[in-house]
Amino acid sequence: MQKEKKKSTISNSVKAYSDYGNFIRNKFGERVQKISINVGFTCPNRDGSKGRGGCTYCNNQSFKPDYCEPQNDIGEQLKKGIDFFSQKRNINKFLAYFQSYTNTYAELDLIKDLYLKALSYPGVVGLVIGTRPDCISEELIEFLSELSKKYFICLELGVESTLDRSLEAVNRCHTFAETQEAYKMASNKGIYLGAHLILGLPGESRDEMLQHAVELSKLPIDFLKLHQLQIVKHTVMASQYRRNPEKFNLFEIEDYLDLLTHFIGLLRPDVVLERFISESPSDLLIAPKWGLKNFEMMHLIEKKIAKENMWQGKFYKELKSDSLS
Ligand code: SF4
Repeated sequence: MQKEKKKSTISNSVKAYSDYGNFIRNKFGERVQKISINVGFTCPNRDGSKGRGGCTYCNNQSFKPDYCEPQNDIGEQLKKGIDFFSQKRNINKFLAYFQSYTNTYAELDLIKDLYLKALSYPGVVGLVIGTRPDCISEELIEFLSELSKKYFICLELGVESTLDRSLEAVNRCHTFAETQEAYKMASNKGIYLGAHLILGLPGESRDEMLQHAVELSKLPIDFLKLHQLQIVKHTVMASQYRRNPEKFNLFEIEDYLDLLTHFIGLLRPDVVLERFISESPSDLLIAPKWGLKNFEMMHLIEKKIAKENMWQGKFYKELKSDSLS
């Protein structure tokens, strides 16, 4: 099945933005649950091949569910995850979500074996693979392209910023040009392409953050996850924040809602928005502490979008012709 054909299932529904839940329901005809998997890989900016210490904001414990332990094999992790969600709801289809660390950073044969194991588990209809832009290869893309003829395959790249100075400041150890190159390599191969972006990295102005929407809109992405910057315990950034809090400009809720609303207005209308906020566990989160549940935040976002009479892509054309200042 070609990507163009797959993309026809993306729907805006009645929301003012392209919503991931609607997209999934339109594509599969029912709810599909992601099951996180941790295969115990590392990252090139942790193991010394490019750098040490990882990204300054990163604590992988902050997004790892309890059922997801690398010492358990994939089948065991999937079983635990599927049992966990099946107790709550009647769900029959699942996506194996290779989430922790860099899930393409290993020997290709090992990677292939792990992906195929996940796809052979009953009920698993596809893969979502989180990785870095500098950790994909032509061989990997060809393999995923083959899989995409039969399964839903999504490659989710950590973009985090379109500004090299920010990428350098947070020790990403890759440039935005490498991100652009990675998307070019993976586009038109039947693979869904996702992006992950952090809003509020130190030193980025409001205009620069809005410009991320313009730059991301030029990439061949299908999905976008947005997160506000969070300071999480046991990270390099937590120490930096303790020493120099004045260098951080963490969002108040109202400011974040305002930024998001304008960001959505600048974004290409067909990019499906998968997330707007992060939710680190409260025992790991240092700041900002908004104290809102995800559904409460979503309610505020939708209220703000309606109040501002905003919709996704409202300003997209103007930006294409550089007429918006
Ligand atoms: S954010 Fe991703 S690339 Fe960076 S250290 Fe964490 S897992 Fe590795």
